[in-house]
Amino acid sequence: MQIEHAQIPMGPESDGMVLELLQRTLDASAPNFPHLIRELACRVDRDLGRLPWTEGILAWLKTQSEAVYRVLAECLWDISAKDPSPEAARGATLILLALAEHTSGFDDKLLFDLAFHADSTEVTRMVGAYLLATVRTRSKALADLGNVAALSELVREQKDVEQGMRWWRALLDDLARNADTAHGEIVFSLIEERPELHFALRNGLLDVFDSLPSAEQQRLVRFMLNSVEAQPELVQLFVLDLLQYSPFLETARQVFGYQLDRQLRHLEQTAPSARIRNYVATLLTQWEISATSTMKAAARGDPELVRVVESQSIAEAVRAAKEWFNAQDVTRMSTILHNPKWGPEDYAFKALQLLGRERSLPVDLEFLCARLGCFLQAAHLPEGLDGLFIQRPGLPGPIILYNRAQSESRKRFTIAHELGHAIMPGHTRYLLHASRVSEPAEPRRLDDTEKTVAATGLLPCVGSEWEADADRFAAFLLMPRRWFAEAVWRTPMTLEGLKALAAEFGVSVTAAAFQAIRLTREAVAVVYSEQGVVRFQRMTDDFRDRVGPSASVLDWVGAGTVAATLLQANQEGLTQEAVVPATAWLDRPQVAEIHEQSLVTHTDHVLSLLTPVGEE
Ligand SMILES: [Zn+2]
Repeated sequence: MQIEHAQIPMGPESDGMVLELLQRTLDASAPNFPHLIRELACRVDRDLGRLPWTEGILAWLKTQSEAVYRVLAECLWDISAKDPSPEAARGATLILLALAEHTSGFDDKLLFDLAFHADSTEVTRMVGAYLLATVRTRSKALADLGNVAALSELVREQKDVEQGMRWWRALLDDLARNADTAHGEIVFSLIEERPELHFALRNGLLDVFDSLPSAEQQRLVRFMLNSVEAQPELVQLFVLDLLQYSPFLETARQVFGYQLDRQLRHLEQTAPSARIRNYVATLLTQWEISATSTMKAAARGDPELVRVVESQSIAEAVRAAKEWFNAQDVTRMSTILHNPKWGPEDYAFKALQLLGRERSLPVDLEFLCARLGCFLQAAHLPEGLDGLFIQRPGLPGPIILYNRAQSESRKRFTIAHELGHAIMPGHTRYLLHASRVSEPAEPRRLDDTEKTVAATGLLPCVGSEWEADADRFAAFLLMPRRWFAEAVWRTPMTLEGLKALAAEFGVSVTAAAFQAIRLTREAVAVVYSEQGVVRFQRMTDDFRDRVGPSASVLDWVGAGTVAATLLQANQEGLTQEAVVPATAWLDRPQVAEIHEQSLVTHTDHVLSLLTPVGEE
C-alpha cells in the first residue's frame, strides 16, 4: 500500500501535529516504510519545518524498540548512500546526523562507512565534517572500531585521499592534545598496513606537528619515538624518516637528550633488519658530521660558552670521548627510568643501587659514570666554571668535563652534580650546559648574570632551579642518607667532627656541614658566607629552641664575630673559635652569647658553626 503524499502535509505544522501524524503513520514493519522515510527526508532537506520533523522522528523513536531504531538507521543509510535524488540523500543524512547527535547507542561505524561509500560527494563531505568536528568526543568510538581497515580504507580511497588525510591529521592532533593513546594503535597499524601511503602519511603528520604548540609537539614526538625498538620494520622506517625533518629532530633532542642517540645506537646494533641497521648508521653519521656546528649554535648567546666550546681543550676531550664511546657496548649501558614522583634524593638512591652490594666509601664516581654510559674527563675550564655537560649529537652518552684546577672534593661534587643532569628528567634539554656548583646544596637565587642570559631568551644553560636539583642530587649521591646519618649520629657537630666526615665521604667540609645539619638532632646552626655576606644558612629546631623561637641569622657577618676576624687574615684552612655576642650573628636572640667555630674554606669564603653556649 502506497502512502499518499497527502498524508505528509506540505505546510508548516505545529510540533504537536507533526508528532501526532508521525505516530499515526510511521510503522517500521510496513512495506512502504522506506518510501515514507524518503518523503520525510526530502521534506527535511527542503527546510520545510525541518526542526519539528526531525524532532518528531526523535520523539517517535523513544516509543519504539531497538529493532525499529536499527531499521530506521539502515533505511536512512541506504537513502544517504545511494538515492539518486540529491535532496533525498541530503535530507536522510541530516536525519542520520541528528540521530548520531541526540541518541545513545548510535553505531558510529555507520557514519564511517557512509563517509566513503556514499555515491554523493556532498554526503561524504557532510558526514566527514560532522565526524571531524566531533572527533574528540568520538575518540573512544574511533578506538572501539578496532578494525583499522575502516580508517585506512578511508585514507586509501583514491577519490578521497584529501578527506582521508584530514582524518589522519585529526587523529594525530587529538592524540597530541589529549594524550589519549587509545587510538595510538590505529596510527601504527595504518603505517604498517599502508606502506604505499608513507609519503602522504608522513607529510600529514609533519603538518600536524608544525601546527602544534611546543608541549603538544613534544607529546607527539614522545609518542612516535617511545617504543621504536619494539616496532615492526615498516614503522621504524617511518619514524626514522621523521627524524630527517630538523624541527622534529630538534624536539626529539629536547625530549630525550642523549637517550635519543643511545636508543638509535642500540637499534643499530640489535635490529634484525639490515635495512634498519644501515639506515640508523647513516643517520648517526650525519648527526656526527654536523655535530660541531650544532654545538656552536647551542652555545650562541653566551660568549663565554662559545669560547669554551671552540677551545683546544674541549676539542681534545671530544676526540677522546668518541674513541671511548666506540669501545663501549651500548647494550650494557644502564639507564635510570624516570618517575614523576621522584626528587633528586630518589634519583641519587637509584644511582647508588648500581654499585651493587659491594659499596665502599667514598662513593666510586668513575664506576658510576662508566655504568651509566657517561664519558668523564678533567679539562682546562675558565675559572668559576666547575663543569660542562655536553650532549654531542651522534654520541650515545653525555660528555662530562670537570675543572681540573679545583680541589679534589669540589671535583667530586661537580662530577656528581653532572651525573644528576645526566639522570634527572628535563636536565638533558640543552646540548650544552655550564655548571657552577654550590656545595651547601641549598636553594639558590638567580644571580644577575643568569637573569641577563635568561632575559635574552637564548639560554644554553639550564636554569638555576635545575642547578639546585643537581646540587641536591650530588649531596645525596656522595653522602647517602642512611650511611651519612649513621656517621653523623656518632660524630660530634664540631669542625673537627665535620672534617672527619668530609674525609670519609670524599666531600668538602662545607658540603658535609650542610648535609649533616639536615640529619643531626643537635642544637646547631651552619652559616656559609662570602666576602662577609651570608649566602646560605640553616639551623636545627633544637638550636632555635635554645636561642629563641623568633631568632634568625642576619644577612651579613657582624663585626664581633670570629668569621669577621678570619676574613681579614683570609688564609685558606684557618680555623678559630670563641664565644661571641649572640647579636653579632642573630636577629632577636633570647640569649646573650653563642659559641662560634669558623673556617676559611677558600679565599673570601667562611664556614661558621654556631652552638648555644654550654653545649658540648
Ligand atoms: Zn649544572
